[in-house]
Amino acid sequence: MGEAISLKENLFAAIDARRGDLIRLTQDLIRIPTVNPPGQNYLTICEYLAARLERSGFRAELHRAHGAPGDSDAYPRWNILARRTGASAGECVHFNSHTDVVEPGEGWTKDPFGGDLEDGKIYGRGACDMKGGLAASIIAAEAFVSVVPDFAGAIEVSGTADEESGGYGGVAFLAEKGFFSPDRVQHVIIPEPLHKDRICLGHRGGWWAEIETKGEIAHGSMPFLGDCAVRHMGALLNAFEEELFPALSMRRTEMPVVPEGARVSTLNINSVHGGQAEISRDSNALPSHCVPDSCRIVIDRRYLIEETRESVKAEIVSLLEALKHNRVNFDYAMRELNHVAPSMTDREAPVVRTVANAIDTVLGKAPDYVASPGSYDQKHIDRIGKLKNCIAYGPGLLELAHKPDEYVGVGDMIDSAKVMAISLLTLLGPEREW
Ligand SMILES: [Zn+2]
Repeated sequence: MGEAISLKENLFAAIDARRGDLIRLTQDLIRIPTVNPPGQNYLTICEYLAARLERSGFRAELHRAHGAPGDSDAYPRWNILARRTGASAGECVHFNSHTDVVEPGEGWTKDPFGGDLEDGKIYGRGACDMKGGLAASIIAAEAFVSVVPDFAGAIEVSGTADEESGGYGGVAFLAEKGFFSPDRVQHVIIPEPLHKDRICLGHRGGWWAEIETKGEIAHGSMPFLGDCAVRHMGALLNAFEEELFPALSMRRTEMPVVPEGARVSTLNINSVHGGQAEISRDSNALPSHCVPDSCRIVIDRRYLIEETRESVKAEIVSLLEALKHNRVNFDYAMRELNHVAPSMTDREAPVVRTVANAIDTVLGKAPDYVASPGSYDQKHIDRIGKLKNCIAYGPGLLELAHKPDEYVGVGDMIDSAKVMAISLLTLLGPEREW
């Protein structure tokens, strides 16, 4: 026991000693603008990470997701997977971070790719989602290896593409190749910004579809000679308001989703397009006068572990069929765009219990267990990799993700790195429990 206590203290000291390194690493990562779409600079960030991790004794491989959505010679989908094997056989702990960030958008008071450090916060697009988490996991792994060089098993760090656009050129690709098979990897921690004292067990499902209502084109001065597809869409949106939204908001889940408002089924209407294409705002051209013969919406339906893809779809179809039955000339087409099943790791899973104990050791409190309203790469590790022992745990505030002046706190990164390092000690150290 005495040895374990001193190993913990040595780990804390090793991480505190790396504070400057952690800051520089986070800044370097932010300064490589990996904006997705289109998916910029993936090779640059992978080469940076490979060089860094090879210096600390990892063997790094780069994998391009040839043929994945968005992959092209102009914007290749590169991923890095680095592995360091210990002194004896044991389990493998894998830290997976996505390297892509969303566009900065408007409203910044800081340079979104500057990595400014001010009052203990590092600013930039991706600071919390999730380059800060990636940096914290690297520091945790490096500190652990320096303190426990003869550890058992293996540590892996991956930096993967395209999480913000579904992860098909990133984790899904690596999972298809077998890199997340349970015989290869036993524990996965995804350092998404869920906050340093929370363990994210999984996420809601998602179902996306395009719905088109059909009409008939005619001169706009005689709309009675045509059939307005936008009015038909209005009838559908009205049915959503009257029937669907109230039903969804009543459907509560056992999943600990945060924020609280997302603990029910939700629907977002992502876009509406009807009639002729919009004239650009800087043009002074006038529209021609036509009755629209087509109107399309894209819907984003987030669903609960208690629901199924089939029931989600059937609920929408029954509204459409009722309109077809009751409304003159109502006709529609529906096309599924994408689907993600919900995922929930068991609270008693080894990685959950390990990180929970580590949070208690570092922060002196029990963790909060949460689930994410939106999905993240756990879906691919679960469905394709068949690996259930996976959580999201990392520094940063979820509310700042994708916002202007996104930042990550240096103190939060240090605390999270300590939790990750203590978790490595539990899983791979001399008194390992699993
Ligand atoms: Zn993220």
